[in-house]
Amino acid sequence: MHNVVIIGSGCAGNTAAVYTARAGLQPLVIKGLEIGGQLSLTTEVENFPGFPEGINGPDLVENIKRQAERFGAIYLDGEVAEADLSNRPFRLKIENEWLETRTLIVASGAKARWLNLPNEQKLIGHGVSSCATCDGFFYRDKQIMVIGGGDSAMEEANFLTRFGRNVALVHRRDTFRASKIMLDRAKANPKIEFIMNTAVEDVFDCEKNIVTGVRLKNLITGETQDRDVDGLFVAIGHIPNTQVFKGQLNLDPDGYLLSTGGARTNIHGVFHAGDVQDRIYRQAITAAGAGCMAAIEAERLLEAEGH
Ligand code: NAP
Repeated sequence: MHNVVIIGSGCAGNTAAVYTARAGLQPLVIKGLEIGGQLSLTTEVENFPGFPEGINGPDLVENIKRQAERFGAIYLDGEVAEADLSNRPFRLKIENEWLETRTLIVASGAKARWLNLPNEQKLIGHGVSSCATCDGFFYRDKQIMVIGGGDSAMEEANFLTRFGRNVALVHRRDTFRASKIMLDRAKANPKIEFIMNTAVEDVFDCEKNIVTGVRLKNLITGETQDRDVDGLFVAIGHIPNTQVFKGQLNLDPDGYLLSTGGARTNIHGVFHAGDVQDRIYRQAITAAGAGCMAAIEAERLLEAEGH
């Protein structure tokens, strides 16, 4: 019987592990499929407080893990295949074995949706990004392209005009999912060029290990053209990792966990942390803060129950 099981080993899960481990609760962290979460896909992180020279994303998340292990956190490979939250202790199935826990912290994150271009995954962190706040700074005076037609794409395109020489916004249709206010703001920004009815076919240049351009296809005429680009920001949505909790934890229509205040979910003893509940901020530091909140809630509940 575990006191605390934490699902996810990104910034949120690892921070929850530091706090619960330091409280002597010996948390078990289920690493999940994307070990280290979104930070493991980034290179330089310059906005995490405490690192004046910046820190490599995978190093940051590994450091938090080592910090948690120093206080007794245990990390387990694998992902949760099934969850039974109908009664406490909660039951989780991992690699064909069921385990039991008094409290659960869900820090399973949200996957960025990608375009699935032949070279896209190889160039993540080398010009391909899913986070303008994280990476925009590296594109000062560069040519930037943003993909998508929702609020995220509009917001990222606007934000990126602070840095880039120009920002091309590429969308596969000629109507938008974005709210009127966000679209109007982007349209009024003279640094944003709209390229409609267009898909990205691929991104170059894997041999140089850096983005130098893209191939675009006009979906009406079928014409293709190559275009120089230094940064490709994919803003086509996220998929929260909550499938195993459907029907048990309250989710919004897109699958994000719904909070009932603080780090609490609709089930007593189950807490949320990080991007699995946060569709707005999605930063390493906000995920870490949320991990801390969830840990404190779990710790207080267990203490009140005499564990
Ligand atoms: P979204 O609203 O689902 O929009 C995703 C966009 O990406 C759509 O325009 C979609 O095109 C496009 N897309 C999806 N798959 C694609 C593919 N394979 N290739 C090319 N394009 C693709 O996602 P979001 O913009 O991330 O927003 C998610 C939610 O967060 C929304 O509720 C949004 O309002 C909210 N949000 C709010 C703010 C804010 O208010 N400040 C900021 C960001 C997000 P189609 O339109 O053709 O399907």
